[in-house]
Amino acid sequence: MPDPEAVAMQILSRYEQDYCYDGTPPVPVDEIAASLALLHIEEADDLRTVPGAPLGLGRLSGLLLTETMTIYVAREEAARSPGRRRFTIAHELGHWYLHAEGVSDFTRYCRDADLVAERHMEGEANAFAAALLTPEPILREQAEATGLNLPLLARRFDVSLPALHLRLLKLDLLPAWMR
Ligand SMILES: [Zn+2]
Repeated sequence: MPDPEAVAMQILSRYEQDYCYDGTPPVPVDEIAASLALLHIEEADDLRTVPGAPLGLGRLSGLLLTETMTIYVAREEAARSPGRRRFTIAHELGHWYLHAEGVSDFTRYCRDADLVAERHMEGEANAFAAALLTPEPILREQAEATGLNLPLLARRFDVSLPALHLRLLKLDLLPAWMR
């Protein structure tokens, strides 16, 4: 299995080349999903009621149905937190590029569903999402430029504070007192 971080970087540079994106954050995850992956993005009040959604699960944040090439995001959560909405789209995009591309059978991937995809696939999709939304070289540069101003960085990359914090931890960019 390819490294999710490396795959995210490949997708990002493909998008930069094909769509003249200069890499300035926030990363246009909606456009990447729509124009590069050719996935539709839809919102629904309750993803469990989407035709094709798996049965018997708890609440979902996101859902990828490969048959219709559609990413569904939970409407209320998306409205409440644009950063979380973006992470959900990037996460499902991770499933698309890491686990689903070329798979012809009907497949579905969910976010926050306890039973569905295996744990390691969820971890990989999360790693892909973090790398796509906060690419390491740009985040490093911006972290330094802003003096690690987390709220400012979160706004600039349009990600949630918890997601940003996790990413900075992973890249070992936080001093001990901020961990
Ligand atoms: Zn998932």
